[in-house]
This record gives sequence, C-alpha cells and structure tokens, in this order.
Amino acid sequence: MAILLIHTGGTIGMVQTDNGFAPRKGVVENQVKAFQSQGAVSGEIDIHLLEPLIDSANASPADWSRVADVIFEKHDTYDGFVVTHGTDTLAYTAAALCFALEGLTKPIIVTGAMLPLSVEGSDGDRNLLDSLLAAQSASKGVWVQFAGQLMHGARTRKSHSTEFDAFRVNEGGDAPVQTGATLINHPYNEHKVSILAMAPGLPTDLFQYAAENSDALLLRVYGSGTAPESEGLKQALITAKSRNIPVLAVSQCPEGGMALGTYAAGAILRDNGVIDGRDMTVEAAYAKLQHALSQTGDPARNRIGRLQDCLCGEFT
Ligand code: ASP
Repeated sequence: MAILLIHTGGTIGMVQTDNGFAPRKGVVENQVKAFQSQGAVSGEIDIHLLEPLIDSANASPADWSRVADVIFEKHDTYDGFVVTHGTDTLAYTAAALCFALEGLTKPIIVTGAMLPLSVEGSDGDRNLLDSLLAAQSASKGVWVQFAGQLMHGARTRKSHSTEFDAFRVNEGGDAPVQTGATLINHPYNEHKVSILAMAPGLPTDLFQYAAENSDALLLRVYGSGTAPESEGLKQALITAKSRNIPVLAVSQCPEGGMALGTYAAGAILRDNGVIDGRDMTVEAAYAKLQHALSQTGDPARNRIGRLQDCLCGEFT
C-alpha cells in the first residue's frame, strides 16, 4: 500500500513562535517517520509539501486546485491520499475536492489538529495515524478524519473552536464521490461569491451592492427557508436575475436543512429564482458555487444544472 500525504499547513504542523503558532517544515514529516519506526503504519508513505505552508485562514480556491492537481497527477501511483490542513477552512477544502475530482477511485482523507504535533498532548498524532490507516481502508471519495470519526467530505463543518472533537457531519447523503468512467479534474477559477446572512432588521438595501458586483450570491436564510419580505432583498434578487448570476440559499440552522415553499415568508426566494440548497452546509454551498462558476462551455446550463444536481452526496 502506498500513500501520498499532501501537507498544506495548519495547526497540525505548527510550532510556537514569538507571533503565535506558525507552520514549520519537518513537524508532520517527523511524526510520520515516528509512526513508521514504531510499526504503527505499514507500507510506503511519501510526503508532498505544498509550499508555502499556510494557515488555512489564507486559503483560496486556487489552493483547493493546487491540492486537487497533485491528487489528479498522482492518482494512479498511490492507493490513497492524506491531506493535512488547517481546521479553520478544512471543511471548505474537503467539499471543494469532492466537486473538483470526478471519477476518483481512491480515498482522500483530509485531517488536521486543534493543537500542534509539536505541543505536548496534541490531538495531531491520533488524527494523523487514523488518517493514514483510513487512506488504506476507506472507500473511494473525499473524507474528513477527525477525533475518531470518518466523515463525509462534503457534509462536514467545524463546530467547535477549541475542543478536539471539533467537527460535525450532517448525517445521510450519498457517498462523497462523483462517479465517472475516467478521472476528471475541474479546476477552480476565482469568482466573486458573496455570502449574505439574514438578520432581523438588517438593512437589506446593502445587498444591492453585492447583487451588482458579484458573480453569485449565497443567501443564509432562516430555518426551513424564510427571509424578510423586504424591498432591499427583492431588488437585489431582481438585479441578480437580470445579470443572470446564480443565487443559492442554505439555512442558518446547522441541521435539518431547508425546503423552499414551506412558508409564505419564503415566497420572495422562490418567486425570484433562488436555488434551494436543501441541507447543504454553507461550506459545501460556497465551494459548489465556485465550482459551478468555473465550468466552461454553455455557462447558463452548466451553472444552473450543476447547482441543482446532487454531485457528490452534498445534500440529501
Ligand atoms: N488557524 C489554523 C488553520 O486553520 C487553525 C487550525 O489548523 O486548527 O490553519
């Protein structure tokens, strides 16, 4: 069994510096060597550093593509892949890899840690070892391994900022893989996607700027799909429609999802062409919009079709 570990940065491979934790080469590599000499994991493990190593707060869709490119190039050489990543945007990257890589036949395990491997009592060694083992045994697709759980790559979200058990998965959903006869890498080109959250009394006329200047809008609406019936929101949706940019909505509730049309107070969304994001996480919805906008060919058909379809179990 041969595994490729792609190290992108994040707390797992950081050390304490005068400015706080910062990524450092050698931390993850040394832990892998230690596992090998202890016999905790067998087989060949190669390590690919995606330099510069970053705090995942600085990740962008270009970084998602850098990871996907390595997996695409090395897919047939290895039996599985581990991606070590910062936890802050780990769920975005895992979802983005699900959308980018069609026809995967290998497991991709994305992991990180809440405390650096270089710090006593770190959760990094457990997460890293579990991930290396999962890369040898999990089924094809993109998974998040964290605190003893193997989770769907497009249905996971960071839900705790300090505890080791920091991720939650929305249960259900088909396998985290886009099936296909051949491996295809859909690259990300950066697009302006605005995330607009509803809140009582929010001046929704501010949404107009986003509607005029974005390539897509992601609305975080209430409960099962309601939003204020305000003139500001209505005008923004009319502008988005006239500019032919996609508008996707997901619920602010982390669980349960939404169903447009349940309440009359959601009619403003349904009547203005908003796409129902059902029970997608905001992370998956944002990555999916970036993915859909990056499709070439007939833009309207590709965008709307891919946004409405379930591509890799991202909604139920
Ligand atoms: N800020 C860090 C990052 O996302 C947090 C972590 O890895 O836990 O890179």
